[in-house]
Amino acid sequence: MAPVTKSQKYDYLVIGGGSGGLASARRAAQYGAKVALIESSHKLGGTCVNVGCVPKKIMFNAGEWIMILGTCPSIILVVDRVIKEKGNNKPLHCWTRMLVILSIVPIPTQIASIAEALHDAKDYGFGIKTIPEFDWTAFKQKRDAYIKRLNTIYENNLNKDGVEYIWGKASFIDAKTVKIKTEDAEAAVNADHILIATGGRPFFPDTPGAELGIDSDGFFDLETQPKKVIVVGTGYIGVEMAGIFNTLGTDTTIVSRSKEILRTFDPTIKDTLREEIKKEGLRLLTDAKVISVTKDQSSGLLKIEFDSNETGRTVEDFDTLLWAIGRKPNVEDLNLEAAGVTLAEGHILVDEYQNTVVPNVYALGDVCGKAQLTPVAIAAGRQLANRLFGPPSFKDAKLDYSNIPTVVFHGTCGTVGLTESQAHENTTFTNVKTYTSRFTNMYYAMTERKAVTSYKLVVADKIDESGTVVKREQVVGLHIIGRDSAEILQGFAVAVKMGATKSQFDATVALHPTAAEELLHED
Ligand code: FAD
Ligand code: NDP
Repeated sequence: MAPVTKSQKYDYLVIGGGSGGLASARRAAQYGAKVALIESSHKLGGTCVNVGCVPKKIMFNAGEWIMILGTCPSIILVVDRVIKEKGNNKPLHCWTRMLVILSIVPIPTQIASIAEALHDAKDYGFGIKTIPEFDWTAFKQKRDAYIKRLNTIYENNLNKDGVEYIWGKASFIDAKTVKIKTEDAEAAVNADHILIATGGRPFFPDTPGAELGIDSDGFFDLETQPKKVIVVGTGYIGVEMAGIFNTLGTDTTIVSRSKEILRTFDPTIKDTLREEIKKEGLRLLTDAKVISVTKDQSSGLLKIEFDSNETGRTVEDFDTLLWAIGRKPNVEDLNLEAAGVTLAEGHILVDEYQNTVVPNVYALGDVCGKAQLTPVAIAAGRQLANRLFGPPSFKDAKLDYSNIPTVVFHGTCGTVGLTESQAHENTTFTNVKTYTSRFTNMYYAMTERKAVTSYKLVVADKIDESGTVVKREQVVGLHIIGRDSAEILQGFAVAVKMGATKSQFDATVALHPTAAEELLHED
């Protein structure tokens, strides 16, 4: 059966039905373009929905939701003040207020996780004597059913916007023609504009026996909860998945090839998290390398040999090994040479407008390797569609990649802007200073379990080309770890993006008692 295409010619052909592809296709169709989207898996939504953010956050939560409204008004106050000090003395326009509120309010937070809340419940006076066991198998079924519903919703949304959804694997015939292949047939379609949004995938290292382990996709396939796990890699995925295993009761070891975890983050985050994970009972091996993996045929356990400066060369039994050592872009199947599209360090080379080197062929999202986050792929996809098919006022539309906030769901850690060392290296800023706060969230006043909260503001004077200071103490980076950090960061990211200064933070009246108020205090 040939892939079902209603037409042989489109205005816009989108390859990849993930975060970026879906957003761009729908926006283009809303402008009236004739759009088709090609997806090679049988599921729409891409990495985020099927094997990324969504099922990960469900596992992280394993719990109930409460709405955090507390930080919202304080963010409005900061934003109001920034606008006023920019010379506009009118209060924030009601639509702008609404946007700020919408960017915060619909994002619920959770009581850390149900597993943690259960542990803390007795300290809060609930008569819980034994913690019930987590039923991984039943929960996975429920989670999978939710993801399936999302897949259908995504398909319905494409239909609603009039985007034609074609199932099959896409590859270029030339810069304007794409072959779509299913298991037993193929078709060719033509388009004026073609977007590559094929995302990425996890991979295994070439360590002997590596294939006996799983990757992050395999994590979501686990039908039962492992008893003893080793996680290799201490970036986003390793740190998040090790945290989930550990919180849910799996004996967990995490392995870093360097001395650090979350190596690229500000020390406030990486050093604090390093202390915290030890308190959580997670075993960390640093300067360590897995040398080989074998399977014991009688026990079925994996024998993992590793070398670590801490423990020397050891062999240990684990029932599961998870590789979390980065992701590779999906470019191999696209026959990019036929179109003339080029790569840079394995990722598709694009300019700031998402243009590849070939006119009318574009790329965005994980396949380009920059800020591999769902909201980034979505925003870049929408801006590209705005530029190509929107009104003339959008002719230069593009995503601004500066000050993108990001969160690691362990701790929780949140960061926006420059780390302290990046601020020192940045030539548009001088006189870098930091304001820090380290405390125990009042939530833990009642609990035996105590987690540290640590905040850092990086501020610097902004200078023009002649070296003259044009703005004093601008907040150029904000790094926070502690309860609710993801929700707190979303609002403060608005202020950082707007170029707020330390004095504007300080002049904002705090909300009390909250953790976020520590970001506003004068030091
Ligand atoms: P994808 O969403 O990967 O979509 C690409 C699509 O293209 C896929 O559906 C694929 O099947 C399809 N495709 C590939 N090749 C072809 C072809 N030849 N023909 C047709 N179709 C093809 N980001 C966050 O912001 N927050 C998080 O909490 C978060 N958590 C994550 C957790 C994990 C475990 C992982 C792995 C990622 C996480 N991310 C998170 C990152 C986020 O998922 C990605 O940045 C985002 O999905 C990238 O979107 P994309 O559109 O570029 O690619
Ligand atoms: P990261 O790049 O974040 O981390 C990779 C980790 O693997 C690092 O600790 C790295 O060490 C280590 N590593 C690399 N190669 C090897 C090797 N051969 N042996 C041992 N260790 C190795 O990648 P992830 O896979 O964790 O995540 C991919 C991307 O997905 C992230 O960059 C992020 O953009 C996105 N993501 C976002 C999430 C979120 O927003 N919450 C959650 C999950 C993923 P070193 O530090 O020494 O380089």
